[in-house]
Parts: sequence; C-alpha cells; structure tokens
Amino acid sequence: MRFPLNVLKKIADHLTKEKDRITVNISSLKSQDPFSDPDRLNDNAASDTDAKEEISHERMEALERELRLHMEEIKIALERIKKGTYGKCMSCKNMIDTDRLAVKPTALYCVSCERKREKR
Ligand SMILES: [Zn+2]
Repeated sequence: MRFPLNVLKKIADHLTKEKDRITVNISSLKSQDPFSDPDRLNDNAASDTDAKEEISHERMEALERELRLHMEEIKIALERIKKGTYGKCMSCKNMIDTDRLAVKPTALYCVSCERKREKR
C-alpha cells in the first residue's frame, strides 16, 4: 500500500511549514539566550544574576536540542516522502497505521516496533 500523491503532498506541506516554524523558533531562542550577548562577558559586577542566567541558558539549550531533534525527524520524513518510502515501518517494513501518522507524521516505526524499541 502507498499513500495517494495528494495526501503525501499535504503531509509534505505540513512538514515544510513545521520546519520553517522550528527554524524561526531556534533563531528566536538564540536571540533570547543571555550567553549570546557579547556584553555579558564584561559584566562582572552582576554576579547575583549569574545563577539565574545559567538556568535559562540550560533550559534554552535543552529546548534547542528538542527543536533540532524534531527538525531532523521532519527532514527524514520529507526525504522518505521523496523516496516513496513514507509510512513504511523502518523495522518490520509494514505500513504504519494511518491514525498514528495523523498524530505523529514523522513516525518511522509502527506502534509495535516503537514499543519494542522503547523497552530496550
Ligand atoms: Zn514495525
């Protein structure tokens, strides 16, 4: 079974938009990160705020990691749409449940293979 082209196109459009949104999010994260502020290095007097900045820097890094991970998933999904392998489980090669793909369009594994992977 293959997905009809119009469905694949819709998914690709959705994923491309999502990718653009993530790109914007990552760059806005970067502009909010106090560590990317060059003035900060000269600001030795403000030691009280250092701890606070540390936390937000870490949180931003975690957020950015998450966004980049999601970005990778989207890139893989788009690549699979191009190759015509979209929706096929990477492990058992069966078609992934369409309900699952509706919730998670970047899914690479069917539900049962995903569960097996999580157990490892
Ligand atoms: Zn599978």
